[in-house]
Amino acid sequence: MTMIQCISPVDGSVYAERQAMGFEEAAAVVDRARKAQRSWAKRPLEERVQLVLKGVARLNEMADEVVPELAWMMGRPIRYGGEFKGFNERSNYVASIAADALAPMVVEESASFERRIEREPHGVVFVIAPWNYPYMTAINTVAPALMAGNTVVIKHASQTLLVGERLVRAFVEAGVPEDVFVNLFLDHDTTSALIAAGKFSFINFTGSVEGGRSIERAAAGTFAGLGLELGGKDPGYVMEDADLDAAVDTLMDGATYNSGQCCCGIERIYVHESLYDQFVEKSVAWVSNYKLGNPLEQETTLGPMANKRFAKVVREQLSDAVSRGAKALVDPKLFPADDGGAYLAPQVLVDVDHSMSFMTEETFGPAVGIMKVKSDDEAISLMNDSKYGLTASLWTQDAERAGRIGREIETGTVFMNRADYLDPALCWTGVKETGRGGSLSVLGFHNLTRPKSYHLKKVTK
Ligand code: NAP
Repeated sequence: MTMIQCISPVDGSVYAERQAMGFEEAAAVVDRARKAQRSWAKRPLEERVQLVLKGVARLNEMADEVVPELAWMMGRPIRYGGEFKGFNERSNYVASIAADALAPMVVEESASFERRIEREPHGVVFVIAPWNYPYMTAINTVAPALMAGNTVVIKHASQTLLVGERLVRAFVEAGVPEDVFVNLFLDHDTTSALIAAGKFSFINFTGSVEGGRSIERAAAGTFAGLGLELGGKDPGYVMEDADLDAAVDTLMDGATYNSGQCCCGIERIYVHESLYDQFVEKSVAWVSNYKLGNPLEQETTLGPMANKRFAKVVREQLSDAVSRGAKALVDPKLFPADDGGAYLAPQVLVDVDHSMSFMTEETFGPAVGIMKVKSDDEAISLMNDSKYGLTASLWTQDAERAGRIGREIETGTVFMNRADYLDPALCWTGVKETGRGGSLSVLGFHNLTRPKSYHLKKVTK
């Protein structure tokens, strides 16, 4: 039997462990979820929506436990209060559009015919969730999937081992029937074996590109629907007419908040030559204000990375870039808590280019590279020089120009004068190796249901 462990980045201790379930045991749980799905789907939509919202409310009541638990499991400072804002915003928004998003599309309703397309739940939806925003990434699928009449099985990341268990406990305590929403502790092989055995009707995987590839391979031939929300290397582009202070503030926050562990975090910034020097100077000052330290202490503003192996990747990319000519501008002496392990000082690199993995591979840490550009064309070509395509953040006062550039950029989302935010009314999606599918918005509901056509010819005398 395999034990799954969460090693805390706070002090390297084993914070939690759970036994991984074997195939037979896990398959029996999924089979029960499948059996429960029909009666769940028969309940009125409004009842399902309200039960999900009650589950969300119950989790909010657990905030005093959730916030330190997150700090222990993945290092986010307690001062940020967990991720309830986004968690609640997304849940409330999807609840508010559920009835319209799931309403039949009526083509004809006459004396001779009824023709319409209804939305049916897929059946059992499998959510495989990452540790970086463990509640927010999970709720993107859990809430609309349940509201739409699916049952949901969740497998959470080892790094945030207790999140799936807690989420399910909150929902069940709030009245969601057992078997309608269940948590599994699984290793990778059993996860893949369950998928390959056709146990799920739809799978939402949020995580790394490599993980996404494994899931796609496991699902091959089962015809299960797949949503793959994978990595990113999101750029910012600061044009000559940008509000400089706002750009520095939002882009640096986007690059470093949550120790840079955000799928849509800013990883590279292109700045028009007229603003470049000022932008760099202000960015270094902004980042230097962080207080790196123990996430359980109130004054800490930057916690450790979630695992020292993630910090190792960032350190290797940084030293490789520096060995190729990049310049690191943040003084390490300002961050005595940097221990060469999970506690990692933030960093800003200049004199970078796309021959460096730091500018092309996902860094997923509190470090960002800044390059000078002369024109929109140069910026567009650099932004598109990436195997990923999640978001791009454009800084200008000209919405028409942002729209024009946006149409040239290969990403799922184009921001103007903001970054690193999921708007639940818009579709969260990516292109290239960032994956496929889309969550949130009306389209998220459509992806969690299938169309069924009704073509009813009436008998007329
Ligand atoms: P990860 O290592 O791929 O893990 C994600 C989840 O998948 C975890 O539950 C993990 O379980 C599981 N998993 C990974 N490989 C698997 C396999 N071969 N078979 C079965 N299960 C597997 O990713 P992560 O490190 O948790 O998350 C960071 C990545 O997620 C970054 O690349 C980030 O950009 C991406 N992300 C993308 C989005 C988006 O919306 N596009 C949002 C958030 C994060 P274990 O933990 O047990 O290994």
